[in-house]
Amino acid sequence: MKLRIFLIALLVFAGAAESSAAPEVHALWAHPPEAGKTVESVRAFVAKCKRAHIDVIVMDVKDSVGGLYWKSKKFPQAIAPGYENFDMLEHLVREAHAVGIRVDAWLVDYLEGANGAAIRAHPEWAQLNPNGETTLSETLGKTRPYPYVWMCPAQRPGYTDQWLIPLYEEIAANYKVDSLHHDYVRYPGDVAPDSYCFCDYCLKNIPRYAMLSYQTRAGERYRVGGAQPLIQANWWSDPTMIPSNWNDLDRREKADFILNGRTIPGGPPDMRYFFYDYRVHQIDRFVRETTERVKKANPKAEVSAAVFKNPIISARFIGQHWDRWNPWIDVYMPMTYRSHFAGSFDAYLEHLTETTQRQLEWIGRGRPLYAGIASTYLFREEYQPYDTMRDRLSEMQALPSSDAKGRAAKAGLIAAAFNEARPRLVQIVPNVAKDLDTLVSSVTANNGSGATAANMDQLAKRLAAFRADIPPGFLPQEKLAASINAARKAKPDGIAIFAAGSLDREKMWEVLEREFKTEAAR
Ligand SMILES: [Zn+2]
Repeated sequence: MKLRIFLIALLVFAGAAESSAAPEVHALWAHPPEAGKTVESVRAFVAKCKRAHIDVIVMDVKDSVGGLYWKSKKFPQAIAPGYENFDMLEHLVREAHAVGIRVDAWLVDYLEGANGAAIRAHPEWAQLNPNGETTLSETLGKTRPYPYVWMCPAQRPGYTDQWLIPLYEEIAANYKVDSLHHDYVRYPGDVAPDSYCFCDYCLKNIPRYAMLSYQTRAGERYRVGGAQPLIQANWWSDPTMIPSNWNDLDRREKADFILNGRTIPGGPPDMRYFFYDYRVHQIDRFVRETTERVKKANPKAEVSAAVFKNPIISARFIGQHWDRWNPWIDVYMPMTYRSHFAGSFDAYLEHLTETTQRQLEWIGRGRPLYAGIASTYLFREEYQPYDTMRDRLSEMQALPSSDAKGRAAKAGLIAAAFNEARPRLVQIVPNVAKDLDTLVSSVTANNGSGATAANMDQLAKRLAAFRADIPPGFLPQEKLAASINAARKAKPDGIAIFAAGSLDREKMWEVLEREFKTEAAR
């Protein structure tokens, strides 16, 4: 009898232990077009998320050109065109909460458009490179102009305290969002990792931050002591680290010293350590101040962040040392997208598990972490021939019709890419295969001599249409399922999928309906 009671107690206890384990959270990044601009479209979008077992919608409410998707009273001039009379955030929060879905308001932090409201009002807030130019002077690849202006995180007063944090505060105070979400919470690293920021404020404040010289008796110079034969071992002897002619140097010369100078004459070129540390400090400070202001405005609101996959390497390249953010960040969503991994798809699966394990280790499991998976990049192999065709075609369109040799070369590459794509296409969507076959032939036949502006344009449009609305069944859904399960092996607190628009385009919603349901039933 006693044994029976003990066994029952044991079973009850085991059951309780199992149900107390936190369930895997499912988050989904989404952009305003997916929710539409009517009450009905927002409701339909939320219903679609509910069917896919999404617990948190991470909705972009400040986009990469600075457009806002709520009725901002502080910055009405920044409201995205077309949203002046439709408060998307308000409708989304109401509809999502009605079905038990949480809303995380996503802000693209330091990016603004070339003609955005912030830069129009305050051009001096932009980050500058050693030439005194903004990020608009950069290029993507060899020729495409970079379309965004990165704003300086350090300046006070500046973009951070006069514009960005007030935006966070306004949402936290006026909307019942569950959380606010940082993105681009960093310096530009994709185009120019070491060129920003050398604005006047930063040129003054990088040396001040590291106290590379004294403000008192600023004119006195002290030489490095010689107690130790290894010259840099005398770093503690208080040598003056800033050159005596510092105030006469121009922006380029100062930047050169900060990047390539030596703290100890005759020692290694180590000055840039302070440049990296300054940038990390600025981003840390912004994250801390945002959370303080958000929690003050609404103590229940959480703060989450989309971060790069490796906080140690990001600290060096983009100032994002996110493994130190446990005091301020409630949920991490690392962008462990395949685009940030080099190998095959199978290599990605293993590296995704390993990277997620390391991320949990970096933060000491001190906060929840949702593994971020981007659907679209999983299909690198499937998309490859189409992207090759699109790019070679665009190059062919730019050639003069007199360049027969050049056009023949491009035509050959387009035909080869199509041959590569054809088998899968014929098997899965024969009508599309036939359609494309006709168009490709018209452009590539007889070494491209039949190519006209009209048929090249037609092919370009057909390829774009294919990419924008992939036929159902064309992309292998098992790749998304396998990625979710590879992340799960590391036991993260949740999975975050990027993004609702790709799920539409790539017909992947049913993968979430299946995969996330399995988890819900566990
Ligand atoms: Zn600056």
